[in-house]
Amino acid sequence: MPARILNGIAIRDQIYAELKQEIAALSAAGIRPGLAAVLVGENPASQIYVRSKIAACEQLGLGSWLHTPPATVTTEELLGLVGELNACDEVDGILVQVPLPAQVDTKRVLEAVDPAKDVDGFHPLNLGRLVSGTPAGRAGRAGLVACTPAGCMEILRRSGIPLEGANAVVLGRSDNVGKPMALLLMHANATVTICHSKTRDLPGVVRRADIIVAAIGRAAMVEPDWVRPGAAVIDVGINRITDAGEAQRIFANFPAKLARFREKGSVLVGDVHPGVAEVAGAITPVPGGVGPLTIAMLMSNTVKAARLRRGRGQAAPGAVAAKP
Ligand code: NAP
Repeated sequence: MPARILNGIAIRDQIYAELKQEIAALSAAGIRPGLAAVLVGENPASQIYVRSKIAACEQLGLGSWLHTPPATVTTEELLGLVGELNACDEVDGILVQVPLPAQVDTKRVLEAVDPAKDVDGFHPLNLGRLVSGTPAGRAGRAGLVACTPAGCMEILRRSGIPLEGANAVVLGRSDNVGKPMALLLMHANATVTICHSKTRDLPGVVRRADIIVAAIGRAAMVEPDWVRPGAAVIDVGINRITDAGEAQRIFANFPAKLARFREKGSVLVGDVHPGVAEVAGAITPVPGGVGPLTIAMLMSNTVKAARLRRGRGQAAPGAVAAKP
């Protein structure tokens, strides 16, 4: 039986509807949450990402500011800008779009962001809260958790996928996805295995999973025979295929995707082979799965940061999955 499709766009819309209520409540208290984005240089992918984040702010009625230093910017100049944004009371969230140019000390810049405004959840203080399993990390209420893994948790919880006692396998151990994802699943009482490029018998490890989160950046790598029938699969990967042979190999049984490739010259695929949808119990599509949730959680973190720093009262509806 084909898998249930976990529709990220529908879940995002649910979260936006909840966030709108909280934004209205904050507005009644004279607070308009706002996000400042720093986009260095002219990287086309970064421009698209930042544009969609600003558009989401506009859709929800959040304040937004876009700073676009040139690609020649220095670490000191960026530290100066981050310092100004830290000091600005109207700015609740600061987003420094990575990658930064080679001459910039990325770590220094990201660590200069006020942890209370760190809506990407990259600051060591927020990471530490997540690791230590304090109520902040566990419930995701007080701390700011990285947006993509937080979004994956929203998908799992809002889709009713049982987490407690489940065997979860996270493919990938990056700081922004794999590691925080594993911690969130562990705090939700799953039994977590983290895999990476040195893992032995990857298919065998993945086959034991009730929940698979794939974040490796390898097009269609997770094959149908790696997946236990009925498993829930969260596909974080976003890979653009431009090679006709590769498209033919991956989408041999998916004529609509092949037609799209022929029409556009490229097509998106996740880290999970599309054939897995015939085996899994539930699966996120690419596009339209995890991607919309990443932006939704950025909005949620911005609202949460505003409430924690400037407001009072209840946790944000739609804020990071909030079951202890
Ligand atoms: P990353 O920093 O490149 O990390 C990739 C991880 O995958 C590493 O831990 C690496 O292992 C592991 N890996 C690579 N090849 C492997 C292999 N053959 N077998 C097993 N493990 C392997 O990537 P990332 O930033 O986490 O992103 C992962 C994917 O998610 C990318 O496709 C990215 O575009 C996508 N992404 C999507 C969203 C979204 O909103 N949907 C957000 C962020 C990222 P080692 O540690 O051993 O090198």
